[in-house]
Amino acid sequence: MAPQASDPDALAAAFLAAERAVVLTGLRLGGPESLDLTHAHGEWAQRASLEAFLTEPTRFWEYFYPTALSIAARTPTPAHEAIARLERAGVVSSLITQSVDRLHSRAGSTDPVEVYGTVLVMRCERCGERYGLPEVGALIEGADDGVPRCTTAGCEYPLRPQGTLWGEALPRPAVERAWELAAEADAFFVLDSDLRTAPISLLPSVPLTRGAPLVLIGETPTQYDRYAHIVVRSSSAEIITAVADRIAPGP
Ligand SMILES: [Zn+2]
Repeated sequence: MAPQASDPDALAAAFLAAERAVVLTGLRLGGPESLDLTHAHGEWAQRASLEAFLTEPTRFWEYFYPTALSIAARTPTPAHEAIARLERAGVVSSLITQSVDRLHSRAGSTDPVEVYGTVLVMRCERCGERYGLPEVGALIEGADDGVPRCTTAGCEYPLRPQGTLWGEALPRPAVERAWELAAEADAFFVLDSDLRTAPISLLPSVPLTRGAPLVLIGETPTQYDRYAHIVVRSSSAEIITAVADRIAPGP
């Protein structure tokens, strides 16, 4: 079992010792994930699946659109802001996230790798056009069957969420980028992810096999706890803010 710590100084030292500190964040950083996108028996898996999208599109959008709206209403937490500060200070070199809410970008992180994409943008697979939530809401309202369709002249193809649906493979470029970053990391920090869903559950093994220290922060035990350099068994919100206050103060 790795040493359990909740000492911000030890964590700050682990960040500062790394030239390439790579951070992976879970679905809902710094707070409880009320919507479980990774659980096979959850509502998301039942209703936001690739199968539901293809076979029952009206029902799919009845669930997906209001869910996406509620995700869009979230605001960045102090944990998002702390990570953005650590990035600006050059302490965190890269960020990989399982979250689909774009809050890292809103907090000021540059170019986070979103391995599940985002639920806030829809796209047309035929012509590539993208749509924001308000436009999609209007298209749903205006459609007899409640299915939004592309408005490009002559296209009218049904739109789909840009993010990954349950039962669908993750976007390959994002997964490849995540693996590259993990391979380059000389310390790897996991914040509020239970590392339960493949392939991302396998990501920490990449730095581990190279001997890079692994730091796990989160309420849920993971399969990597015994291999970790430091385990902090609580939500990341407080401790990552304390770390940023020590080594990356300022806006
Ligand atoms: Zn189109």
